[in-house]
Amino acid sequence: MQILDDVCIGCGTCLIYCPSGAIGLENDVATINAESCVECGTCVRVRCCPTEAIHPSSLKGIPREIRSFFSDPAITHGQTSVPGRGTEEVKTNDVTGRYKKGCVGIGVEVGRPSLGAYMEDVEKITTPLASMGIRVESNNPLAHLLESRETGRIKEEYRRERVTSIIIEFTVPESRVEEVLLRLKDLFDEGETTFTLDLITHFDEAGNIPMWSRLVDLGYTPRPNAKINLGLGRPLAEERDRETPGGGLGK
Ligand code: SF4
Ligand code: SF4
Repeated sequence: MQILDDVCIGCGTCLIYCPSGAIGLENDVATINAESCVECGTCVRVRCCPTEAIHPSSLKGIPREIRSFFSDPAITHGQTSVPGRGTEEVKTNDVTGRYKKGCVGIGVEVGRPSLGAYMEDVEKITTPLASMGIRVESNNPLAHLLESRETGRIKEEYRRERVTSIIIEFTVPESRVEEVLLRLKDLFDEGETTFTLDLITHFDEAGNIPMWSRLVDLGYTPRPNAKINLGLGRPLAEERDRETPGGGLGK
C-alpha cells in the first residue's frame, strides 16, 4: 500500500488498523514503510481514511505479490486458486485425502499469531525438516517458493519478502511424530518470530485424540479444534482411493 501525501490530512486514524505497525506519521503526513508492510489490505478494507489517501502500492509483480497471497484473506492465490493463505490444509481432507490413516498431518504456521514472518524465517524450519527426509506438501503454495522440496531452501528472490503468516504443511508416519515434534521445539526456541503448531490426526476407535498425552509429555499445550464440513464435497477421498482412505479428522 501507499499513501498519497498530497491527499493525507495527517489525522492518524489509519495507524491503529495496521497489524504490522507499518504506518507512521512524519510532519503530519502518514507514510507506509514498504519493508514492514505485508500488503494485507486491512488499511483499505476498513475504510478508515476520511480523504481516501490510501491506495494499492506501485510495487507490483514477483516477488512483492507473494506478500498479499499470504496476508490478504480477500486475495486468491495465483498458483493454487485458493483464497486465504493459498491452502485448504485439513479443512477439505474429506475430498483431498492428504492425511491418511497411520500418518499425522502437521502444519507449522510461521508468524502466527500477530508477528508476521520473513521467508527467511520459514527456511529455518524447512531446511532442517528436509534434512530429516520430510517433504512439504506439494499442493501447498509454499512448495512454489522453494528451490526444491528435497533441500527446503527458499528461492533467493523470496527470502526477504514478509508475510502475515505462512503454513509449512507435511505429513509424518505416527512412528516419527515424537522425533519431529522434539526437533520443531528446538527450532521454535531458536526462531525469531512466533509459531503455531497444528497437529491433525484421526480419532481412535473410542473417539479420543491419540496424540494428546504425548503432546503434553513433550511440553506442548494442545487445544482441540474441529473444522466441520457439511459433506457436500465429491468424490470423497475414500471413494477415489479405497486403498489409502482419508477423512474424518480432528484438528
Ligand atoms: S496493507 Fe496491511 S501491513 Fe500494509 S500498511 Fe496496510 S494494514 Fe499495514
Ligand atoms: S487515515 Fe488517511 S488522512 Fe488520516 S493519517 Fe491515515 S492516510 Fe492520512
